[in-house]
Amino acid sequence: MNDNCIFCRIIKGEIPSAKVYEDEYVRAFRDINPQAPVHVLVVPKKHIASAAEVDESNSVYVAKCFEAIAKIARGEGLENGFRVVNNCGEDGGQTVMHLHYHLIGGVKLSEKVV
Ligand code: AMP
Ligand code: ZN
Repeated sequence: MNDNCIFCRIIKGEIPSAKVYEDEYVRAFRDINPQAPVHVLVVPKKHIASAAEVDESNSVYVAKCFEAIAKIARGEGLENGFRVVNNCGEDGGQTVMHLHYHLIGGVKLSEKVV
């Protein structure tokens, strides 16, 4: 955990968040600036700075994030589909340097992001 990281501080309970899901590996909470009716951030409980830092020592957290995404999507009523977004690094538009997945849905999204 990193004392200067906002998501580590949310996981530790030092900063409030609207919790949606939690297990041993993952914490999920609502984005403070939602871009869709459902906008949940799915965050590993280990400080991994970005997708560029994933390797065989920590990839279990990625798997657990995606297990959580499927559960949360069902709980949020997203049976008709959703989008998962990861921004990585400066060129990828990442603003919080703690790996996270945006789970976005509840509306028909545009067909392409790239
Ligand atoms: P990214 O730009 O992919 O790094 O996404 C960071 C996301 O974190 C943005 O969508 C922000 O709105 C969101 N965010 C930042 N601070 C908080 C917070 N305290 N609680 C919930 N979401 C936050
Ligand atoms: Zn962190």
